[in-house]
Amino acid sequence: MLYNTLGKTNLEVSRLGFGTMRLPTKANNGDIYKEESAKMLSYAIENGVNLIDTAYSYHSKNLGDNGESENFVGEFLSENSLREEVLLQTKSPSWLMEDFRDFDRYLDEQLEKLQTDYIDIYLLHSLTVPEWYKVKDLNVLDFLDDCLSSGKVKHVGFSSHIEVDYLIEILDEYPKWEVCLTQMNYLDEYYQSGAMGLNYLRQINVGSEIMEPLRGGRLVQNIPSEVNALWNQAEIERTPIQWAFQYLWNRNDVDCVLSGMTSFEQVKENIEIASKLDEISDNDLELIREVARTYRTFIGNDCSRCGYCMPCPHGVDIINCFAEYNIAHMMGNPKASAMQYFYLIDDDSRADSCIGCEECLPFCTQMLDIPEELRKVHDYFGEEFNHY
Ligand code: SF4
Ligand code: SF4
Repeated sequence: MLYNTLGKTNLEVSRLGFGTMRLPTKANNGDIYKEESAKMLSYAIENGVNLIDTAYSYHSKNLGDNGESENFVGEFLSENSLREEVLLQTKSPSWLMEDFRDFDRYLDEQLEKLQTDYIDIYLLHSLTVPEWYKVKDLNVLDFLDDCLSSGKVKHVGFSSHIEVDYLIEILDEYPKWEVCLTQMNYLDEYYQSGAMGLNYLRQINVGSEIMEPLRGGRLVQNIPSEVNALWNQAEIERTPIQWAFQYLWNRNDVDCVLSGMTSFEQVKENIEIASKLDEISDNDLELIREVARTYRTFIGNDCSRCGYCMPCPHGVDIINCFAEYNIAHMMGNPKASAMQYFYLIDDDSRADSCIGCEECLPFCTQMLDIPEELRKVHDYFGEEFNHY
C-alpha cells in the first residue's frame, strides 16, 4: 500500500480508503451480510488500508435516517481489537439537525454505535448550500470547537457536492477544517467543485479525500465500444479501473480515494492497484480527456448511483430506473435495456410510480430533478415497451 499525508492533519493515510456505504447485503431483507463484509475489511486492513469511512445514514432502511453501517464497523473493530489500528471517519447527518443540542446528541449516539470514545475524522455530511447556512445558524462551529477540545473528535471537515465558489466560502469561514471530501473522477474535472476545488484544498493544506472515483461504476461497467477503442490506443495497457484510479493518484492534489466496495474481489483488485506506482504520462492524460469527451456524448443523466435518495417513500426504485436509462444511452441499445427495465424492476417501482412529492430532492448528490428525470425514463422506455 502507498500512503500520503492527509493535509494539515499530518496523518499518514493509505491512498485507498474503505467506504462502507455499499457493503454486501442479504437479498431477503437488505441487512448487511456481516461475514462477507468482515472478511473484506480484515483483508483491507491486513493489506495496509488504514482509513475506514462510514456515516450515520449508511445502510439505512429509511431515507437519510439511522443506518446499520456504523453499528457493523463498531462491532467489527471492537471484536477484532482493531480500533487503534485504523483511522475511523464518520459523518454527522446535517439534514437531521434542528437544534444546537442535536449535534452532540447525534455524535454521542455515533460514538456508541461505533463502540469507541473518539472519532479520528468527523465530517459534516454532504453539505448543500441551504444546509450549510442552517447548521451555521445552529452554531455548528461552536459544536466543532467543543468536540475538538473535549477530544471526542480529533479532526474535523465536511463532505460536499457543491460548486467551487461555495466550497471556498465554507472553507474560508473556519480555519480548523482539516479534511474535505469531494467528488472527482476524470469525467468530473469541471463538475461540482472538481479540479478547482482540489487545487484550493491543496493551497490551504486541507486534506483531500475523493468520492465517486468510478462515477458509480459508470467508468468500469457497460463501457461503450467507442471508449474501449480509445483505451486500446494507449501506450501502456491498463484496465478501465486502473485508468480511473491512477488518474486520481497521479494528481498532486489528492490524498485519499474512498471506494465503496461491495465484494471481496473488488477489495483485492483495488488494493493491488493502490499498491503500485504507475505514472500517467502527458499522452495518457490526453487520452483520458478524449475518453471523457466521448463518454459525455453518451450520458442520459448524471446519476452516480450513490443511493442517498433511497428508499423512496413511494417505492420507486430510483437507482435502477436511472441505471437502465443510462445503460441504454451508453450502449446504444435501448431495446435491450427496456427488456431489463421491465423484467428487473417491479410494476410498482418503475418510473411511472413517482407521484412527484419531491421528498427525495434534497438528498440528490448530483442535484438532479429526480421526478423530472423519472418522467424522461418513463417516456423513453414507454416507447420501447410498445415493441414487445
Ligand atoms: S419525487 Fe418521486 S421518486 Fe422522489 S420521493 Fe417522491 S415519489 Fe419518490
Ligand atoms: S438520483 Fe441522485 S441521490 Fe439518487 S442515486 Fe442518483 S445521484 Fe444519488
